[in-house]
Amino acid sequence: MDTEITDSLFARIARGEIPVTVVYEDEHVLAFPDISPQAPVHILVIPKRPVRNVLTLSAADGEMAGHLLLACAEVARRMGIEADGCRVVLNAGKAGGQTVPYLHAHVLGGRDLAWPPG
Ligand code: 5GP
Repeated sequence: MDTEITDSLFARIARGEIPVTVVYEDEHVLAFPDISPQAPVHILVIPKRPVRNVLTLSAADGEMAGHLLLACAEVARRMGIEADGCRVVLNAGKAGGQTVPYLHAHVLGGRDLAWPPG
């Protein structure tokens, strides 16, 4: 496994080495608030198994990836933004704006979000 992934901030959070406020957790994923929220609700959902990003997923990751999406919906329900809607974002790689090399979904809501992103 690539140490850039396993040494990353979110890998350390997934292993419980850095404490976070847990919004949702199960055997596959962990969800916690973004440290620099871009909307009234901004939650990050990460897998417990280390993966770089959506572009590096393989067929063997299908169950985990599906579970991650279901967890995003559960986070939206728990945060009270389901009725109004929200945005789920997966930044991948440099041009995609990914700054932490460990798969994470952003769940953003609580305000009207502009499209397209800058
Ligand atoms: P990316 O740009 O890679 O898609 O998203 C990384 C996200 O991680 C950013 O929204 C950033 O604010 C968030 N982040 C960076 N450092 C920390 C941290 O120490 N704790 C938390 N909770 N979020 C962080």
